[in-house]
Amino acid sequence: APVGAALEVADLWAGYGEQDVLRGIDLTLEPRSIVALIGANGAGKSTLLRTVSGLIRPRRGEIRLGGEQIGGLAPHRIVERGFVQSPEGKQLFSDMSIRENLLVGATNPRARARREETLEEVFDLFPILRERQALPASTLSGGQQQMVAVGRALMALPRVLALDEPSLGLAPIMVDRLFESIERIKARDLTILIIEQNVFQVLEMADKGYVLENGVVTLSGTGAELLADDHLRASYLGL
Ligand code: ATP
Repeated sequence: APVGAALEVADLWAGYGEQDVLRGIDLTLEPRSIVALIGANGAGKSTLLRTVSGLIRPRRGEIRLGGEQIGGLAPHRIVERGFVQSPEGKQLFSDMSIRENLLVGATNPRARARREETLEEVFDLFPILRERQALPASTLSGGQQQMVAVGRALMALPRVLALDEPSLGLAPIMVDRLFESIERIKARDLTILIIEQNVFQVLEMADKGYVLENGVVTLSGTGAELLADDHLRASYLGL
């Protein structure tokens, strides 16, 4: 049978304690696409990534990565299967070198076997990291630390790379560079799921977007369709 979607989520329910946060989410990520998750604070975007990553157990529904069920697997198994989230808020080891921080991403057996080649690929993507690889991570600017965070996720050889607000705290020029590098990463044959507050910029780049409100998808379409949608323009672009 054809593998089809890179990631497929169907009727997904999850939450914390008694509280349901996700209330029947459906998503389909085509291979080699960039998919944006849009929504106000508290809509459930981070909860969705945490549930797919295995940090929160789904209450109901299906999560399939390349056609295989991953719902309910332990987080490290899900990384091994290929769903990898770039660490939130960077979370680097500040005293370790940049190179060591990157290698931390390649601990799963599938990635470890290829880690020297992958490291070269990450350095090709972010040449400044090659130059500074021996320095402690604490010596980098915010934008460079974000490159290390993305690079560390790439070291795990993702099939689907998830990014939770990668541009948070970056100066506008660094946000532009980060978006350029995300497009270059997509060219490497993987699928990207991205949460972003820069709604205009992310939808210009995205193949598809989903709008989450109160734990349900209220709108989806291509980036261009969403940018032309009156509700989206009023609620998320202030137009
Ligand atoms: P943000 O941009 O603020 O992160 P979000 O769309 O990612 O928004 P979530 O972080 O997924 O939203 O939060 C969705 C809901 O779940 C909110 O009501 C939030 O208060 C609640 N929530 C998030 N994390 C926890 C937690 N660890 N324990 C209990 N409730 C939580």
